[in-house]
Amino acid sequence: MSTLDKSRKTVRAAELLELGLRTSIVAQETGLTAEAVRQIHREVNKASPKSGQLPDFESLLKTKCAQIEAVLLFAIYSKLIQNNHNKIDLQQLQKAYCFYQELRSELKLTNTSWKNFTINEAWVLIRAFVTQQVSQSWCQCGGCSLQLRDRQKIKCPFCGQKQTDA
Ligand SMILES: [Zn+2]
Repeated sequence: MSTLDKSRKTVRAAELLELGLRTSIVAQETGLTAEAVRQIHREVNKASPKSGQLPDFESLLKTKCAQIEAVLLFAIYSKLIQNNHNKIDLQQLQKAYCFYQELRSELKLTNTSWKNFTINEAWVLIRAFVTQQVSQSWCQCGGCSLQLRDRQKIKCPFCGQKQTDA
């Protein structure tokens, strides 16, 4: 890695860490080593990074409320991206996450028991979407439901109807 390349990646890593993204995600996104990212984290946030595993996407889609919020997040992200690559467009994810937070407050979901995804959870969900672990399907009611690949169909979170293979 050239010095210039490394500097650019360091600046990008610092931006992402300021947003609250986990060091493991930042390392993946920038190609910097885990140790280098942890060091940047300590400098940026004046604290050691939290450790622990990222949640898996299935655990984030357990409740009806969480499924509806994930539909919202996917819808915004899909609108923003130009092409559906099999890689996350982090810049668009940042934007989508901001819109998502605005919409939540518009819908008066803040401070309710609804699931408010963190930026890290949003990343996990969008990754599942771009790698096609999760896909969207449309219900007869007009609502959108999320389906997990190779799993039993999830009922529509809006009307409760069982989804069939169409
Ligand atoms: Zn429905």
